[in-house]
This record gives sequence, structure tokens and C-alpha cells, in this order.
Amino acid sequence: MGHSRAGGGRAVDPAGLDTMPLSSDGPTIVIVGAGPTGLGAGYRLQELGHDDWALLEANDYVGGLATSFTDEAGFTYDIGGHVMFSHYEYYDELVDKLMGGDYTELQREAWVWMEDRFIPYPFQNNIRDLEPETVFACVNGLIRAQQEKRPFSNFEEWVHAVFGEGIAQHFMIPYNFKVWATPAELMNEIWIGERVSVVDVETILRNVILGEDQVSWGPNNSFRYPLRGGTGFLYEGLRRYVEHNLHLKTSVVSIDPAAKVVHTDDGRSWPYDVLLSTMPLNRLVGCLQGVPEPVRRAAGDLVWSGSHIVGVGIDRPANSSKNWIYFPEPDVPFYRVTYLSNYSPYMTARPDQTLLLTETSRSEFKPEDEGTIVERVIDGLVATGLMEDCDRSRVVTTWRCSPDMTYPVPSVGRDAALGTIQPWLREQHIWSRGRFGAWLYEIGNMDHSTMQGVEFVDHVLAGEPEQVWIPRGERAQGAGVR
Ligand SMILES: Cc1cc2nc3c(=O)[nH]c(=O)nc-3n(C[C@H](O)[C@H](O)[C@H](O)COP(=O)(O)OP(=O)(O)OC[C@H]3O[C@@H](n4cnc5c(N)ncnc54)[C@H](O)[C@@H]3O)c2cc1C
Repeated sequence: MGHSRAGGGRAVDPAGLDTMPLSSDGPTIVIVGAGPTGLGAGYRLQELGHDDWALLEANDYVGGLATSFTDEAGFTYDIGGHVMFSHYEYYDELVDKLMGGDYTELQREAWVWMEDRFIPYPFQNNIRDLEPETVFACVNGLIRAQQEKRPFSNFEEWVHAVFGEGIAQHFMIPYNFKVWATPAELMNEIWIGERVSVVDVETILRNVILGEDQVSWGPNNSFRYPLRGGTGFLYEGLRRYVEHNLHLKTSVVSIDPAAKVVHTDDGRSWPYDVLLSTMPLNRLVGCLQGVPEPVRRAAGDLVWSGSHIVGVGIDRPANSSKNWIYFPEPDVPFYRVTYLSNYSPYMTARPDQTLLLTETSRSEFKPEDEGTIVERVIDGLVATGLMEDCDRSRVVTTWRCSPDMTYPVPSVGRDAALGTIQPWLREQHIWSRGRFGAWLYEIGNMDHSTMQGVEFVDHVLAGEPEQVWIPRGERAQGAGVR
């Protein structure tokens, strides 16, 4: 991606659908949300020397879902396990600049807990240690699936077609329900990309017969982590570059796209030429005036899930080199536990303490009682051996954070909805980007989000095409609502 200096002119949209004349001074830009996407945009604007912009953030802190919190006991928590890996040179250089030398470097050590034992992640490449009946069901199912080559039209059918009955039943379907809190038949399979390791018969036979484990699959097999302050250290670091234009505790309540004005809860109005919104797409549509009925209906089709993130601080060493563990079985609430204290000795008050960070999903399909979740998490940690019963008295702190939106679900109707909403927004000179702004899980990580903010700026100021954001649903749908 090029990053030439801005020079005004015309901005062209990525699908080539419309063009927007800019004044010679450049446009007035309003950015909603100071998470990684909004901060990425703000950083790029100051880098390019454009100063006619405002960054509006509802919270009294920056970082959005990538924020970290330190409690009174001196333990630092992320909002779920955040592993940093990047696909982009610009993002890598930014991270280098923000972290300096203050980071740890970790080899991924990921495990799956099932049938009362640990097996290396990814499950499907490492089944040899499971019960013989499970191994047989998995291998037999995979061979049959590859012979049959069944068609599929949703994620559940895709899992059965690609992995076969055994892997589907023992891992993929229950695990994905625990993560997404959404039945697999309601999801599409377009998001998979590099997120799911697809197995072949030879790999599985090598594992089962020759005993070869495959533990280094995927793009995130080694990663860096800030030495102090958790993941949020990075975004707190971006704050100083945007401070002059940042307005915290400023929540957008309505937007008049005809007048091009944003209204905030403090009664102020913010005129714009171009708007970057990183708030959830359905909420953006909800606060826009004059939205056509098909766009409003499409926003109602978007599906999401929330989480209970629970951290447990224990006054004893971790006695483990694991980074994180997946839990596909329904007997414990969490789908993942991260040994956050293994990421840096500064995540706990003292280096000889342990911090376990757990993630439990929730939705209308999978309600999870918030009043009992901390207790259920601790019971689950004991049941799976991550804590011993005697550790209950060594728990020095617990922390819970329960955002109602953490996973933008790639539902079967998602792309049609996006193909209706996004072209209409662009006609209003509104770019909706980021994890819930774009509503694209496949580009919903920190690097993707930050780069969507950066590329928005390069697109609007210099006419460069956006490369990270994907116009899902648009080509198939035509131009959306006209
Ligand atoms: C459980 C979990 C695990 C994750 N793990 C990883 C990982 O391992 N690796 C990785 O790279 N990424 C991970 N992520 C993703 C990462 O957190 C996101 O990529 C990133 O936070 C998205 O940034 P964003 O700016 O698009 O959105 P957000 O972080 O959601 O920020 C949006 C901002 O907009 C603000 N806002 C919303 N509405 C309004 C309004 N009306 N007015 C003003 N402001 C508003 C919000 O307060 C928020 O600050 C994970 C996320 C979760 C939830």
C-alpha cells in the first residue's frame, strides 16, 4: 500500500461507484470512536498534517475493545485474550514505534482441553491422544467427507462437508457454538480464510499412525506483547498523537446526513464533509435521520454476540508455560482461558502470581447469568485442573467486564445486509469501518482495524483505494439502495 502525502483532489470509492469532490483545503472530517480504527485514522491525519478533524469518543478513555484495565490489586486485564499479529508493514512500523524495546516475545503455546486431557491446538491436526472411538470417528468421518464432497450453504454444512461427522460432532460444532453463541446453521463460511486450519487425510494419518504433532499452524505462532500495561498500552500510546482533536465523554446521539451534522449528548453539533464511523453499524443506522426502509431492515438483520470476560488473580506461580487453552465441551462456561501472567511479569502485582483471563460468550441463543459467572468460572477452572481446590483461598482478585457486543457474527444474511447498507452510507459520505463498523469478523482484528482507519484517510485525502476493507455483498447485490 502506498502512503503518499495528501494533495486534495477527488476521492474515489473502492468499488468505483461514486466520486467525491474535495475543497482545495481538504475536507472537514469527523471520526466517531477512539478504538484502534479511529485512532489509526487520527494518527494518519496528523502524520499527513491535515488538521480539520475531530475524534469523538463516548468513553473517558481511548482504545475501545483493545483497552486494558489495572485493578486495585495491581493486576492488568485485556478484554479477552488479545494476540498481536500483523499482515501490514505500516502497522508493524507503528507498533515498533509505540513499543520501542518494551515488549516480550512469545512462542504460541495453544492447547485444547477435551476428554479430560490437553491436546495441542489445532485440534483437527492432533487427535491421536483422544479416546480410540473418538479418533476412529474423526478419521473415518474425514475420509468419507473427502470422498463425498458434499455441497454446503452455511457454516454447519461446510464443517460437515470439509471435516466429516466425527470432527464436526466432537469439536467444530460445539466449540464454535461456545465462541459465537450462535448456531452454526445461522452462520456463513465466508469468514474462514486463515482463521480455521483445514485438515487433510495425510496430516491426520501422520498424527495418528506416526505420532507427528502439528503445533505451529497459522499466522500467529509467535507474537509480541507490551511489557507493561497490556494490549491497551499500544492504543494509549497513540493517544498523544491525536490529543488536540480528541473529545472524550462525547457520545454521538444523532446524525443528520442531509445537513452533514453530528449531534452529541452534550448538545454540541459537529459539521462534517466526510464522516468515519467506528460505532456498531446497526447503532449507526439507528441514529441516522432519513434512513430508507430497506437500509433500516438490513441493519436489523445483523447478528452479534457479547461476552463475560472474567479474570482471576491467584497468589502462586503459574507452573505452566501455556499461553491459552480452548474449551469445546459444554461443562465449563468459558471457551478460552489465557495465562495472561505468562505474557509479561508485569501483568500481576508480583511476578510469582498467576492471572487467568477467561472468555464466555453470550447471546439470545446462549444466555449466561452475569450474577453467577465469576463463581462458575472459578468452579470451571478447578474442574479442568487449571486451579486446584486449595487455590480458591489463594484468589486475591477477580475482575469482570461484560461488553454486549464483542463478536460481529458472519451470519447467512450478513453480506446481503452489508451490500444494502454500505453503498447507501457512502452516498451520504459516511464510511463505516472497524470491527463493528464494517461488521466483518474476517478483518476485525487490531491490525485490520487500525489499517482501515489509516486507509480511510489515504482514500479520502489522496484517492488511494482501500485494501483492507472488503465490499462484501455489493458486487453480487448491485449498487444497493438507490
Ligand atoms: C474478546 C475479544 C478478543 C479479541 N482478540 C483479538 C486478538 O487476539 N487479536 C487482535 O488483533 N484483535 C483481537 N480483538 C479485536 C480488537 O479488540 C478489535 O480489532 C479492535 O478493538 C477494533 O477496533 P475498533 O476501533 O474498530 O472498534 P472498538 O474497539 O469497538 O472501538 C469503537 C469505539 O467507538 C466508541 N463508540 C461507540 N459508539 C459511540 C458513540 N455513539 N459515540 C462516540 N463513541 C462511540 C466506543 O466507545 C469505542 O471506543 C478481540 C476482540 C475481542 C472482543
